[in-house]
Amino acid sequence: MTRVLVTGVTGQDGGYLVEQLLAEGSEVHGLVHYGDTAAESLGQHFPALHLHHGDLADHAGLARLVNQVAPDELFNLAGISSVAFSWDQPILTAELSGVAAAVLMRSAFDLQERVGRRVACVQASSAEIFGQADRSPQDETTPVRPVSPYGAAKAYAHHMAGVFRGKGLHVAGCILFNHESPRRPETFVTRKITAAAATIARDGGGTVRLGNLDARRDWGWAPDYVDAMVRAARHHTADDFVIATGSTHSVAELVEIAFERVGIADWRSHVEIDGDLVRPVDAAQQVGDAGKARRELGWAPSVTFTEIVHRMVDHDIDLLSSG
Ligand code: GDP
Repeated sequence: MTRVLVTGVTGQDGGYLVEQLLAEGSEVHGLVHYGDTAAESLGQHFPALHLHHGDLADHAGLARLVNQVAPDELFNLAGISSVAFSWDQPILTAELSGVAAAVLMRSAFDLQERVGRRVACVQASSAEIFGQADRSPQDETTPVRPVSPYGAAKAYAHHMAGVFRGKGLHVAGCILFNHESPRRPETFVTRKITAAAATIARDGGGTVRLGNLDARRDWGWAPDYVDAMVRAARHHTADDFVIATGSTHSVAELVEIAFERVGIADWRSHVEIDGDLVRPVDAAQQVGDAGKARRELGWAPSVTFTEIVHRMVDHDIDLLSSG
């Protein structure tokens, strides 16, 4: 039986990954932060999941956990997940999204040396490592030039994946472009908009405050991206893979589709632009070329942008009607 250790199990991707791994019969261990209130419901939902409480800033604790679980596969999904938050807490972001990843890789390397078998790691990297990319679409050869504390922390972890790969550890770097689902928190613009559309439709009026409506992103379906990470862990060669849909949409298009879904054609009258939400530095356009993942991992996105927005809006309507 494959034994897997996943960090960040209470996040959007962690939940989908645990689901996929348990369904295929793996023994799954998850790291949760002390006091993370989501851990209890996760444990109830997945009784077979082994939960371990810890802290990404506790390097010795992380090393002990890797040694004790002795996984065949290690997925590092933990860390700060919001670019906006990283501007408020840049050093904490470096510690949790950068240094902790290196600690996990070193621990996996030590374990591999000790037990004499492959310990396959996946580092959940991010399109934010490219920052204001000088080319479009971005692929695995695009220069890493982050423009946010989040991107810089992820870039360090991404480089360390390459360093440990050079030492003989199987570390795949999955460069994930934005990926969404009904489990996204409202700090992300997709869920903020779908939740607002559902509420405004129910109330028969209201507005949502947004930042740059012209920002464009390559938005995919989160479970597809989790599946890509599993494929990368099990691929014969450890490598970097861009995981993306290859098409972009603007925030304005997102709003239009979400409001259309709830029967509101005149979405502009429900949107207020808030200058505080316009980011001083933002990667204006991110779009990924996942050709390598297609060729080598047999991976492809399975849900269209419109369908993602519809699923999220429908979920938010259900949430409101169930109280
Ligand atoms: P990110 O790409 O990982 O930062 O994901 P977000 O969902 O937070 O942001 C996606 C894009 O939407 C960025 O270009 C933001 O500048 C833009 N955006 C516009 N209005 C908002 C808003 O009200 N909230 C957030 N989070 N993003 C916004």
